[in-house]
Amino acid sequence: MTLKLHDTMARKKRPFVPADPKRVTMYVCGPTVYGYAHIGNARPVVAFDVLFRLLRHIYGPDHVVYARNVTDVDDKINQKAADEGVEISVITERYLAAYLEDMDALGALRPTHQPRATDYIQAMVDMIAGLIANGGAYEAEGHVLFDTQAAPDYGALSGRSLDDMIAGARVEVAPYKRHPADFVLWKPSKPHEPRWPSPWGEGRPGWHSECSTMIEQVLGLPIDIHGGGIDLVFPHHENELAQARCAHHGGEFARFWMHNGFLDMAGEKMSKSLGNVIIPHELLQAVPGEVVRWALLSAHYRQPLDWTEALIEQSRKALDRLYGALQDARRTLGGAGRPGAHTGPLVDKVIEALSDDLNTPLALSGLFRLSDELREAIGGGDRAEIQRAHDDLITAGALLGLVQADPAGWFQGGADDDLKGKVEALLVQRTEARTAKDWPTADRIRGELDALGVVVMDGPQGATWRLKD
Ligand SMILES: [Zn+2]
Repeated sequence: MTLKLHDTMARKKRPFVPADPKRVTMYVCGPTVYGYAHIGNARPVVAFDVLFRLLRHIYGPDHVVYARNVTDVDDKINQKAADEGVEISVITERYLAAYLEDMDALGALRPTHQPRATDYIQAMVDMIAGLIANGGAYEAEGHVLFDTQAAPDYGALSGRSLDDMIAGARVEVAPYKRHPADFVLWKPSKPHEPRWPSPWGEGRPGWHSECSTMIEQVLGLPIDIHGGGIDLVFPHHENELAQARCAHHGGEFARFWMHNGFLDMAGEKMSKSLGNVIIPHELLQAVPGEVVRWALLSAHYRQPLDWTEALIEQSRKALDRLYGALQDARRTLGGAGRPGAHTGPLVDKVIEALSDDLNTPLALSGLFRLSDELREAIGGGDRAEIQRAHDDLITAGALLGLVQADPAGWFQGGADDDLKGKVEALLVQRTEARTAKDWPTADRIRGELDALGVVVMDGPQGATWRLKD
């Protein structure tokens, strides 16, 4: 099966062949840690997590190296620290911890490397010095600027010419720039801002220098895949590319460029609904991370995604359906089975969908087919068939980072041990009452369960329960 990925530079899908199948490299631009992430920032994390899982499946888990940076030097961080009257590290540590906690809750695997900008300042200074030496950058008024006119194919990634950029006024005009599109590689720090020594005075690097340097230092050039949100194509990735190529005499930087589309919050009128909670840190108080993950994967990563309360509800129902089938299977089998022990044709369908430029909507519908197959197997009663269908659903789900939890935990996640004990005891009494045809008692127990916020689901394998939403 050929993996095809859409390459922003080529503007089309191309067969993906890594430079070295024993060491497939991927870099995704990470967070600037000055506040809680926006739900839009979670989309690339989840989309590229699916790609990471797929690459690990194809090339082996030990042969994929994924790096995502942490921007811990930035004007917004400085401002936040000044506002609170604390050290910059207090801000960056607080919000990096929150970011990792939230992305863990969304089921994203931690990248192999998470380099921090402040650990690579000297390497950035060295790269900038190299650019000045080979005529790609110049010093002016304590700043070092990249000379865009020295980069013959500047604009190739975003499809913009230098003239377009001036006309569109997407670039900051400053008196010390030779050309308005020239961008800052190094700038002087204001009093009380973090600073590092350099040949051009004490200061700090520009944002774009960070990724080019860390990509080279952490992964080595060229990398196979460079990813991020569509808003990063220009100027961030265009500038990363220009300086990296200039520093390496026009050599290759990234073999594939991948960008995810926007998350659209404007589709629904503003109201106090979950669809308008745009901070995962808050949303995850009310909604399981797996529901948010399903919602984020429900549209193809390059398409815009309408973020609405209805989407969150649909995603929860979808997961209820899958976990419901898994729960019934486990009750019949009396155990969890051996995920990965078997891969049938429906699992291949899911892999095939993902291999076509991460077609997650098709892959999710593949999970429904697997759960239908599991339901049929449960109906048929053949234990080996049930086991096989159960394991296939878990195996395919793992590629998407879904349905890996214990189904009982999924349905009863919010219940403490005290409540669980009460419910289980009431269910036993209810079964006894029903066996004895003592309907008044059975009805009274049902009422008690209802008052506890519990929904009872009677099935062929007995009663199961979940908490009401
Ligand atoms: Zn970057």
